Amino acid sequence: LSKLKGEIKVAGLKLKNIEKRYSNGFVAVKDFNLDIEDKEFIIFVGPSGCGKSTTLRMIAGLEEISSGELWIGDKLCNDVAPKDRDIAMVFQNYALYPHMTVYDNMAFGLKLRKTPKEEIDRRVREAAKILDIDQCLDRKPKALSGGQRQRVAMGRAIVREPKVFLMDEPLSNLDAKLRVQMRTEISKMHHRLQTTFIYVTHDQVEAMTLGTRIVVLKDGVIQQVDSPSNLYSKPQNLFVAGFIGSPQMNLIEAKAVKRGEDVVLTFGSVEIKLPKEKAEKVVAGGYIGKDVMMGIRPEHIAEPSTLFEEQKADYIVASATVEVVEMLGAEKNFYMICEGNNITGRFDTSCQAGPDDEVKIAFDVTKVHVFDLESQQTIT
Ligand code: ATP
Repeated sequence: LSKLKGEIKVAGLKLKNIEKRYSNGFVAVKDFNLDIEDKEFIIFVGPSGCGKSTTLRMIAGLEEISSGELWIGDKLCNDVAPKDRDIAMVFQNYALYPHMTVYDNMAFGLKLRKTPKEEIDRRVREAAKILDIDQCLDRKPKALSGGQRQRVAMGRAIVREPKVFLMDEPLSNLDAKLRVQMRTEISKMHHRLQTTFIYVTHDQVEAMTLGTRIVVLKDGVIQQVDSPSNLYSKPQNLFVAGFIGSPQMNLIEAKAVKRGEDVVLTFGSVEIKLPKEKAEKVVAGGYIGKDVMMGIRPEHIAEPSTLFEEQKADYIVASATVEVVEMLGAEKNFYMICEGNNITGRFDTSCQAGPDDEVKIAFDVTKVHVFDLESQQTIT
């Protein structure tokens, strides 16, 4: 293992003003700028069609870059052939050769490259050990589980000892349980190999759990590049706020008004008093008297009886009507209507309310987000 680790060459990447215009004129990626550090685990995430795969394929050299620069390490790679880029790609539809053993599947690419036999043997056995498939080397793919097959596909990439691993939705063909299992496997693999990973997914949970940094894309444009925790707690715009988190952040149109020294967001009879720092930003932005979008995550709405005395100062209580309750095991999701707005709250399982019941809900004002309705950018 240490030998393999030692020999893998590592490098950062730089994408400068990258654009992809397909032959039909459609611009799939616009002015994409990103510095990827050596050994980072970068995730491209976004809804279908946002340009994730196109960007990954440009890095791989499978798609021509229309304009801009792609640097891998200190080499400008726009016109470098895929095989000379020192990267390995794992696809969604990995196809193993059914008639070959696991060993031969993993060795195949190296044989084509005329790598010496002993070197192939060393690399295959070490990769198999990393992936915990060393017991399976003599088997054919049909004698493997789905997860083991996926690991063989990764093994084929690992034996190449690339500078960068590119993965395009590698887990999307696996069932839910296996996905979760493979997610941890991939994390471990990144940790052991100590090399750069770029990973495409449309699954925000996968993005949040795997990435050291996440690039959120929409319509070919980067929305935010940040750590998982910053994306969750400091989304830069409405799109990111709505995309990250499940169930989604609650979004309620409200009016920002002054009540004496205080700034409140009002909708119906509810008045959410903003903490000082947030209030100052709303005032400074000139939003007093205007409509804004208020955001609050389901986990930041509580059932008032579950609050501790010292928490109560941070909460504003309102009434809501329950529509649907989802039992999650450790918690319950409550889908409710509050002053005509759909609101989701994540409560303790002790909350026994059911459909049509009137309940009290408490908003944690310290966790409220405020967005500009027009520009959709975050105010605070
Ligand atoms: P998904 O999650 O569905 O795979 P994605 O974010 O990976 O989506 P891309 O495959 O990168 O999206 O595609 C981005 C956009 O470019 C889409 O609107 C797609 O229809 C378009 N596109 C992809 N390939 C071509 C092509 N060869 N010619 C024209 N348009 C294309």
